[in-house]
Amino acid sequence: ARKHGPFHKIVILGDGGVGKSALTMQFVCHEFLDYHDPTIEDSYQHQVHIDSRVAHLDILDTAGQPEFATIREQYMRTGEGYVICYSITDKRSFEEAIEYKKLINRYARVDHIPIVLVGNKSDLEHLRRVGVSDGEALSKEWACPFHETSAALRRNVDVVFHDLIREIRRKEHDE
Ligand code: GDP
Ligand code: MG
Repeated sequence: ARKHGPFHKIVILGDGGVGKSALTMQFVCHEFLDYHDPTIEDSYQHQVHIDSRVAHLDILDTAGQPEFATIREQYMRTGEGYVICYSITDKRSFEEAIEYKKLINRYARVDHIPIVLVGNKSDLEHLRRVGVSDGEALSKEWACPFHETSAALRRNVDVVFHDLIREIRRKEHDE
């Protein structure tokens, strides 16, 4: 019902510094970005084959709204699917992920919005502050896929986007 044109609008949400831009750049360009201006918000159009069907993605890498009050309602209304990211090294970013989910629920106004939960920076095991089981439990509560990723090592990056597209397609199919 939310689909406008051939592009699936995907929105990347999460606390500043969790690796939203790095994940997006790895997925789209196969490059690890060590620095991306945290205030720059950009969108990327990307085409991929998922389950032998082409998907056109319009990915919005959000930026610069650590305060929920300033988050743009627009994202929440136009996104077809969301990647909610936290960093496994940062407990607070995990708490913020829960807040982002609440925002989606408030604005999306549909029953089940496709979401994938991501715990990024899995290469920094020695700095881990959020257990795998915490992510798993939250994703169970949300009934959504969950992956720990490393944008630095390009670990589990593709599967995040592929799972999100699968969720979006399943929803389209059900409607
Ligand atoms: P954003 O604010 O959520 O867009 O975060 P960025 O993508 O700008 O990443 C913030 C910082 O974390 C940068 O210095 C990145 O290089 C670093 N970073 C992002 N992803 C990873 C990762 O998977 N592992 C490690 N070690 N660092 C990462
Ligand atoms: Mg960024």
